[in-house]
Amino acid sequence: MATEDCHKRTLGTVWGDFTDIGETGSKREKALTKLLRCVPEKDYLKLKEQFHTQYKFFIEPHDNLGKVYPFLPASTMAVYLSPILEGLEFDRIIAVAAHELAHIVLEHNPSEFINEQEIQEIEAWNRVCEWGFEKEARDHVARRRVEEVVKIIIRPSIKPFSFPE
Ligand SMILES: [Zn+2]
Repeated sequence: MATEDCHKRTLGTVWGDFTDIGETGSKREKALTKLLRCVPEKDYLKLKEQFHTQYKFFIEPHDNLGKVYPFLPASTMAVYLSPILEGLEFDRIIAVAAHELAHIVLEHNPSEFINEQEIQEIEAWNRVCEWGFEKEARDHVARRRVEEVVKIIIRPSIKPFSFPE
């Protein structure tokens, strides 16, 4: 699945159903479009309904360094995909975006307690695999583990601020 597109639905269908996928031409938008063309019909319809009622994408342009936003209505849930993803391989963006969409399809509650979270994470990755993105999911999770270990090892000590000389 990594390179070829599945074409269950046309671009027009997806863009008509999901009108606000974020920065046009961004890798995140392309990944979401690919996913929404591929997910099985039952899950697609569920996503479509959720994005017409409760959810919104929050996919800022990658060069937007800061911005003041109005709050969304309290009942709205935002699906955030970091601009940092623009610098990663396409398959990793697919894995991250699919994982978040899987949480929505599975109706996971983001405010569940911590010991529920691991179960939800596994369920979400399983759904990503069912959608045909197992390789992307496994590669991403493996790389993420390594990145987290590296982050702990090289965590810088915080120095008091001073202007450069
Ligand atoms: Zn998750």
